[in-house]
Amino acid sequence: MRYDTARMRHIGMALGYPRCCVDHFCGSLDRGVFPADGLQDGEWRGTGFVPCPDHAGRIAREGMAAVLPSIEANRLAPFPFQFGHGAGPDLVQEYVDALDAAAA
Ligand SMILES: [Zn+2]
Repeated sequence: MRYDTARMRHIGMALGYPRCCVDHFCGSLDRGVFPADGLQDGEWRGTGFVPCPDHAGRIAREGMAAVLPSIEANRLAPFPFQFGHGAGPDLVQEYVDALDAAAA
């Protein structure tokens, strides 16, 4: 499966995710590897955010406080970071649909 990683990179940055995490996620997809493997058991599970290995380690030690202030500071999306299983991806999808509608 091919992914539109240029678009995903744009969305990841608009959601305020650290550049290293966006690079890791999109770079893995560009190499045909789904990057969530082994990284899905943290507090971010179900949010759509997939940390890079460095951030996954920091979050494991410090909790989401290791990354949340930076996400909130850099976020352009008009809703807070989407904690909660199931609710998050819907919010993200709504935002992505709105971005697509604006770009059409
Ligand atoms: Zn990172």
